[in-house]
Amino acid sequence: MTEEFLAEVEETAVKPVVAVVGRPNVGKSTLVNRILGRRAAVVQDEPGVTRDRVSYDANWNGRDFIVVDTGGWISDAKGMAAMIAEQAELAIAAADAVVFVVDATVGTLDEDEAVVRVLRRSNKPVILAANKVDDQRHEAMAATMWNLGLGEPYAVSALHGRGSGDLLDAILDVLPEAPPSTYVEQSGPRRVAIVGKPNVGKSSLLNKLAGQQRSVVSDISGTTVDPVDEIVEVAGNIYHFIDTAGIRRRVKEASGHEYYASLRTQAAIERAEVCVMVIDASEPITDQDLRILSSIEDGGRALVIAFNKWDLTDEERRHYLEREIERDLVAFRWAPTVNISALTGRNVDKLSKAIEEAAEGWETRISTGKFNAFLGRLAAAHPHPVRGGKQPRILFGTQAHNCPPTFVLFTSGQLDPQYTRFVERRLREDFGFSGSPVHVEVRARA
Ligand code: GDP
Ligand code: GDP
Repeated sequence: MTEEFLAEVEETAVKPVVAVVGRPNVGKSTLVNRILGRRAAVVQDEPGVTRDRVSYDANWNGRDFIVVDTGGWISDAKGMAAMIAEQAELAIAAADAVVFVVDATVGTLDEDEAVVRVLRRSNKPVILAANKVDDQRHEAMAATMWNLGLGEPYAVSALHGRGSGDLLDAILDVLPEAPPSTYVEQSGPRRVAIVGKPNVGKSSLLNKLAGQQRSVVSDISGTTVDPVDEIVEVAGNIYHFIDTAGIRRRVKEASGHEYYASLRTQAAIERAEVCVMVIDASEPITDQDLRILSSIEDGGRALVIAFNKWDLTDEERRHYLEREIERDLVAFRWAPTVNISALTGRNVDKLSKAIEEAAEGWETRISTGKFNAFLGRLAAAHPHPVRGGKQPRILFGTQAHNCPPTFVLFTSGQLDPQYTRFVERRLREDFGFSGSPVHVEVRARA
């Protein structure tokens, strides 16, 4: 198994998360904007919508992390301290480090103390930001914050930027390193595997695609081509076809043959970025077709489905095929399809467009800010159903990596599998991801 496949088994690594907590009006949102390096007032409450935790991608001194702003809590005069503590608890549970903001011009209030108790219990690294220290005069006030027992108070002015560099350095000191991107983008032409059960027309398709110009593109800089692979230009795009020897050199049907063929298919899927799944349109879709499709999805590869031997289909067969597609391929509705004939060459040039589309969906990245805006809209319109008196909530989420797009949701309890699938469907509606599997993982943190 390759590293990519092994990585699937472990928890998907996300960038380190910093939660900014504190009672209302101490300057959390202003500080978050300062950390993000932009002017304040980016996060405006929409009327009628309770602003929840909002998260963004941040970078300081070349290091990436996620900032969660726990800013927009509704003020509820009674039980305020308890509510702030509860909200902070959820955010803290999902964070690697916490910035606790207090207002140095006001001093500490009961609500601050409530958060302090949560912070002590959490055992997470805490950086204490004594905010609104706009000038020297307020430094002394910040120093009194030592009495919170949370270590050195960093005197900052989120509004003017005073002291924010030191604060950011202190945050990075306690943060774990960002995980390396699980997918290392390789230079050179896209790697494409033509897969499918025997006799569906894989080698005919490859021959058609390669045509006359197979040897034309042999010298692309920075590319090492396996002897079993071929570089082929299709409709102006250059592709690196994987394990073409396995397609061209047809192994004798013998006992165990199918087993080795499936191992070979598996290996080709793992090496590829995009898989072109060839299905014989003139015959009913089989379990073997579905098994290969599942391997592609499980392997997290981009997918194009080519219905081949279209020249052999008549109206009746096409009618049945449509019904088979509805019945058997609903789970792969996201894959672009092309109806081709490797024999006549029909639509074969359209494969290139479909491959590009799938690769693009597979590589899509969505910023943490955009993703959480999406989650906010989703949760407002379709909150998770209450289960046993409890309602699990999505605290925030992030795209851990692309190729394929993989999202991690931090939640206050396990989500129903249907709700997770619903999130996935909505993600596709909003962002596309045509031709790519999309993975949504849930981390219940409280
Ligand atoms: P939040 O409710 O904790 O997110 O607080 P906000 O970021 O919305 O800030 C509350 C108020 O404090 C706003 O009017 C800010 O302009 C103000 N504020 C925030 N940081 C500072 C600061 O460093 N100095 C001063 N003087 N005012 C600040
Ligand atoms: P592979 O085992 O998947 O590589 O399949 P082949 O390319 O060897 O094709 C199996 C058989 O199907 C051969 O007899 C091909 O000539 C035939 N074939 C492949 N593609 C088409 C097509 O589009 N139309 C028709 N009518 N026959 C095809």
